[in-house]
Amino acid sequence: MPITLNPNREKSLLRRHPWVFASAIRSVDASSAPGSTVDLISSEGYFLARASYSPTSQIRARVWTFIDEPVDKEFFRRKIRLAIELRQKLKVESHTNAYRLLHGESDGIPGLIVDRYDNVLVLQSLTAGSEFWKETFADILVEETGIQNIYERSDADVRELEGLKPQCGVLRYSNTRSLNMQTEDRISNIVIEEYGLKFKVDIQHGHKTGFYLDQRENRHRVGELVKDCDVLNCFCYTGGFSIHALANGAKSVLSVDSSADALALLEENIALNRVPADRHAALEGDVFQLLRKFRDANRSFDMIILDPPKFAPTASHAEKASRAYKDINLLAFKLLRSGGTLATFSCSGGIDAALFQKIVASAALDAGTDATIIEHLSQGSDHPVSLHFPEGAYLKGLICVKE
Ligand code: SAH
Repeated sequence: MPITLNPNREKSLLRRHPWVFASAIRSVDASSAPGSTVDLISSEGYFLARASYSPTSQIRARVWTFIDEPVDKEFFRRKIRLAIELRQKLKVESHTNAYRLLHGESDGIPGLIVDRYDNVLVLQSLTAGSEFWKETFADILVEETGIQNIYERSDADVRELEGLKPQCGVLRYSNTRSLNMQTEDRISNIVIEEYGLKFKVDIQHGHKTGFYLDQRENRHRVGELVKDCDVLNCFCYTGGFSIHALANGAKSVLSVDSSADALALLEENIALNRVPADRHAALEGDVFQLLRKFRDANRSFDMIILDPPKFAPTASHAEKASRAYKDINLLAFKLLRSGGTLATFSCSGGIDAALFQKIVASAALDAGTDATIIEHLSQGSDHPVSLHFPEGAYLKGLICVKE
């Protein structure tokens, strides 16, 4: 079933970018069903790629392959095998049992995310195309990893754009006959390990697929810088940075988040790791307000971590998001002691690394201080970025030392 493009709209495909926007399309075969496989044809009539069709999304087609080859179970098996082999090459399992096994477009399967949490895989299907092949993906994942348990967390907002409803639950289980609510609870309360530290992950209710796997290396790096520091961990979630800080000799750690559930899990994680609980305090609240309160009370810290949620999912939100990033970074610079360290992050697709650095620089300027970048950070290598899909690089971080 063909989709024919408008004249001159094949350029991005020739550069191997995998998305085709609605405006690039001249005609679609009327019989094309959501998620079905379609051929992308240039206005001059030659084959460009084979893709999945998303009739309701502005991203109307996503490429499976630029070659004229069958798109079937064996095709996806090859892609999934490559993703597994890459993680083996990265030796990610040498310091964790929780990592991203498949990262959508960058691993050649647009719309599919698979995270491994010990002996459970969490699958997230984001597009009509990945939905179409979901059961096939689940079968291949069991066959190729030997892991029998797959939990589905297809509840990201972007599904709406694809005309898909949220869907969560057990997709595969080693003993399907005994599948019941208890099973859900059991596979949903997993303890993972990261650089020798333990974290309880709630894959049923937690954010994303349960844990911010993309920050693993950055939590470890920040841990190396916190000895004897008074640390303020803003947007702490279940305590990733806090536990690393406590385990690495921080003098004190104050964790802030607006989610009571996340903070409850943080307390469990402190107990799990037998880190000095008396050096830790948690505050439930809004970081924007709390930082102001701390400024007015002249509080100060040696290390501040800012890991906020996505303020700008796309470039259209960039302006408002920039103000929010600047606000918290400015306040953080004010609360930092001289010589103190700021670890600041943005996971917004709509703000690129250069813009983020500019925002942090102008925050320092307005705070009346200078700072030096000692490290540029990004997502862990288990979240690879295809050279042809720069959108895959969404997480950026800076570690800055205040003058
Ligand atoms: N650093 C964490 C991940 C942070 S995710 C880790 O390594 O695991 C962002 C967190 O910000 C979420 O836990 C969310 O509950 C929290 N959050 C969002 N808006 C907030 C606000 N205005 N004030 C405080 N916390 C907020």
